Amino acid sequence: MDHNRYKVLLIEDESNIRNFVKTILHAKDYQVILADSCQQGILMYNSHLPDLVILDLGLPDRDGLEFIRHIRKTDVTPVLVLSARTTEEDKIKALDLGANDYVTKPFGTGELLARVRAALRSCQISRDAALPDGKFQLLDLTIDYNRRLVTVGGNEVNLTPTEYNILDYLSQNSGKVLTYSAIIKQIWGFDDAGSVKKLQVNMANLRKKLGAKPGAENYIVNELGVGYRMNDTSA
Ligand code: CA
Repeated sequence: MDHNRYKVLLIEDESNIRNFVKTILHAKDYQVILADSCQQGILMYNSHLPDLVILDLGLPDRDGLEFIRHIRKTDVTPVLVLSARTTEEDKIKALDLGANDYVTKPFGTGELLARVRAALRSCQISRDAALPDGKFQLLDLTIDYNRRLVTVGGNEVNLTPTEYNILDYLSQNSGKVLTYSAIIKQIWGFDDAGSVKKLQVNMANLRKKLGAKPGAENYIVNELGVGYRMNDTSA
């Protein structure tokens, strides 16, 4: 038993999946609040203020995307999307509206729990990022935001301003999947036809400079067809 007291709101209309997820979370001592429609989800969210929301997109009353739209007007509570929809477009839409991550149905116990932990951590990290020392640390990688200085194993890495800005943005959102268009808008301010290619070239150079090795677990994960995720500090 992990004795964690995180409160998780699960919005899912299919009772077998609801029970499956609830059982998994209870076994790890999460508190679970249930809702089976978008509207009930919003009510439960407002009355229980959960630490994390697990959200099915295909809900009987409204699209689960409506839930994300609703809470993101005011809140940064992490949202993990459960989706039977396999198209990248749906995942991208949910991420761009502010979901933190997604799990595609069918999923296993280990995968779900890992994503839940990562989403809860990423929320903790964004709070910690405001700490006065202004540094990000992940394995051998250190980013000193005040000095715009990046080191790996104590050695300074020479990045172009664009590469640094991408790394800065990913690290400030570590653990969260950022879509191509979210990164492009952040870095260049607009999205044009050549932007994804431009981002991929910069990303390839950045990863190479950070010492990425093919097939190895690296600082930045390529979420194929969707975007990129910076690993978080305790993965
Ligand atoms: Ca459903």
